[in-house]
Amino acid sequence: MRGNFFTICSGFYILLLLIVFFSKKRWNSLENKIYSWLIITNFFGVILAILSYMCITKSDALGMLNDIISKTYILYLITWVSIFSLYVFVISYNSKNLTKKEFAKKIKRVYIITGIIYVICSILIYVLPLYYMNENNKVYSYGPSTSVAYILTTIYSIVWTIAILRNYKNLHKNKYTPILVFMLFSLIVVYLNRMYPELLLITSVDTFVTFLMYFTIENPDIKLINELNLARNQAEKANHAKTEFLSNMSHEIRTPLNAIDGFSQLILEEKNIDVIKEEARDIMAASQNLLEIVNGILDISKIEANKLEIVNVLYEPEKIFNELIKLTQARIGEKPLELRVNIDKDLPPYLDGDYVRLKQIILNLLTNAVKYTKTGYIEFNVSTVKKNDVCRLIISVKDTGIGIKKENIDKLFNKFERLELDKNITIEGTGLGLAITKKLVELMNGKIVVDSVYGKGSNFTVAIDQKIVNKPKTIKEEKVVKETKKLNVKGKKVLIVDDNLINLKVANRLLQNYNLNTELVSSGFECLKKIKDGNKYDLILMDDMMPKMSGMETLKKLQEDKDFHIPVVALTANAIAGMKENYLKNGFNDYISKPIDKMELERVLMTYLNNN
Ligand code: ADP
Repeated sequence: MRGNFFTICSGFYILLLLIVFFSKKRWNSLENKIYSWLIITNFFGVILAILSYMCITKSDALGMLNDIISKTYILYLITWVSIFSLYVFVISYNSKNLTKKEFAKKIKRVYIITGIIYVICSILIYVLPLYYMNENNKVYSYGPSTSVAYILTTIYSIVWTIAILRNYKNLHKNKYTPILVFMLFSLIVVYLNRMYPELLLITSVDTFVTFLMYFTIENPDIKLINELNLARNQAEKANHAKTEFLSNMSHEIRTPLNAIDGFSQLILEEKNIDVIKEEARDIMAASQNLLEIVNGILDISKIEANKLEIVNVLYEPEKIFNELIKLTQARIGEKPLELRVNIDKDLPPYLDGDYVRLKQIILNLLTNAVKYTKTGYIEFNVSTVKKNDVCRLIISVKDTGIGIKKENIDKLFNKFERLELDKNITIEGTGLGLAITKKLVELMNGKIVVDSVYGKGSNFTVAIDQKIVNKPKTIKEEKVVKETKKLNVKGKKVLIVDDNLINLKVANRLLQNYNLNTELVSSGFECLKKIKDGNKYDLILMDDMMPKMSGMETLKKLQEDKDFHIPVVALTANAIAGMKENYLKNGFNDYISKPIDKMELERVLMTYLNNN
């Protein structure tokens, strides 16, 4: 009993730990799983230690059974050490920021090696002889079988030391405490065991270390608190980002709004028609700027919500590049800037890709080059590298502008980040262009790099792979169709539903350009009444966000009548990510966002009203 004293005490502790640990909610991590094996093994180990002690005291009577139980106890020792070893590897790999795949690969290797060593040692334990001491209250076992456990623990201690040394930066973390304690205690116990082998301290050391681990990392409460802290930090960060976003947005929106408001007031007081026209043009420019901001925000929100899809279609790259050149020339205007263009002569005539987004990417770069260059030139280069049916477009936009400081290059692609605002205050911009450009390039599996010398100029290069298409037939056919179809909607009747009088006025004015008959109503109720009264229309343009009855609700009511077949198009400012799909899913035939884009409007008129 005296020699068993420490083991029996450990038994109480491990039982307590077992109850506390398994009665609480736990995290389902690998660390945690391994730790639960450790506690269970430890529990059985204590039972085996007590049994082994009792068997040795009666070894003469028990014979073989004593041998089996005592050797199984030694097997426990190597089991505990092996599991502890797995634990050490898991926490070491965890702190290395490995990818899931790399982590799984490394752990699999550790499992296999530990498993093989474990099997070999287990066989050795049962094969090698074990001797017993049972004299003058000194009860213990010794011999080659026990040496297997000692040797294995020593080898593992060396491996852990190496793992710890390679990970020395993380040593301060409390999860390393049990490893250090175990190694220290093992040394002390080996020394004590040599002097007083009857003390039987090993199981108690295992228990102590298992217990200690509970209070360092595996305590579910500590994990819970850590997770809560992490969640709180993330929520605070998100909140901060939102506040920053709102303050940025209100500033960005105020600038063009200020121009629109100011010039509108001036127009009201102005009598000279030429000045009025000039001021109206300024209002248009400010509105365009405002629209660009909102579109930028929509693009960013779509990209961040993973709603932005790359739509690949057949296109003629040369045509796209020519359009971009024309647009850039228009943007250069009177600025003393030369536009140099080098487009690869071997550019394939037809490619398959998202040309709308490709155009957006290049236009952003060209527009920036124009904005941030006072004199000199802008060079637009397109070269190609072809492999099988893939053409890598290497597009570079070089300028002799203000350039970017080295330390600012990393900030370029951040949302709302505008560099050296004090110097560039007169240059219009939102700081969204390059953030969107980068995300679009990534979505198209491409790359963007910047090379810039402050004060001398910048060079932005984009590489994007596009599929080469050899059959241009469909494009030509489409072109023929497009060219022959002319918009002819004369005499068709359109009902416009919108609670906002200015919006009604704008939509009406735009539609009058096409010789349409329009009727205007300012609520869902009035729309329902018009239809109920038997009025016939060829198309309904419906706002959604209206008080009392939304456009969506109005449409539902209209569609309750089985004989209702008029196409209804959502005409709404609600243009955030996924809204278009949502409107179409809810029964609208089509969708136009406000402010109304002329081309979009014509597309809808062509689809639903064309006389040809
Ligand atoms: P912005 O709307 O401000 O132009 P961008 O995201 O397109 O937003 O660009 C972010 C910032 O990067 C700009 O404000 C500008 O300071 C810098 N920048 C972008 N392109 C160039 C360039 N070609 N030359 C110098 N600076 C540039």
